[in-house]
Amino acid sequence: MKGFTYLRNVATLKLDQEKCIGCEMCTEVCPHQVFTMVDKTAAIVELDACMECGACSINCPVTAIQVDSGVGCASGLINEWLKEHNIGGSIGDCCT
Ligand code: SF4
Ligand code: SF4
Repeated sequence: MKGFTYLRNVATLKLDQEKCIGCEMCTEVCPHQVFTMVDKTAAIVELDACMECGACSINCPVTAIQVDSGVGCASGLINEWLKEHNIGGSIGDCCT
């Protein structure tokens, strides 16, 4: 889903790079390629592409990512995606 963006500068996504241990999980679970790795540390490269699904925050082992998640039917779609890829956690429950 790369290239799809939402309203500019409104996403609540926050990344604490000081906490990041470079596991790359956020780059794997994000459906919109919001993160990239720079020198073994995660970095936000497409903030406006974030749909606030919460998958990155749920799967970050060191709570380096914060986002207000669980809004709308996006949570149902992402929960299905997480299940299909055997990735732990779930978000919201409005559409499941
Ligand atoms: S909340 Fe969802 S869309 Fe936003 S950065 Fe995290 S995984 Fe990607
Ligand atoms: S999931 Fe967390 S620890 Fe892993 S690369 Fe992303 S921010 Fe860093």
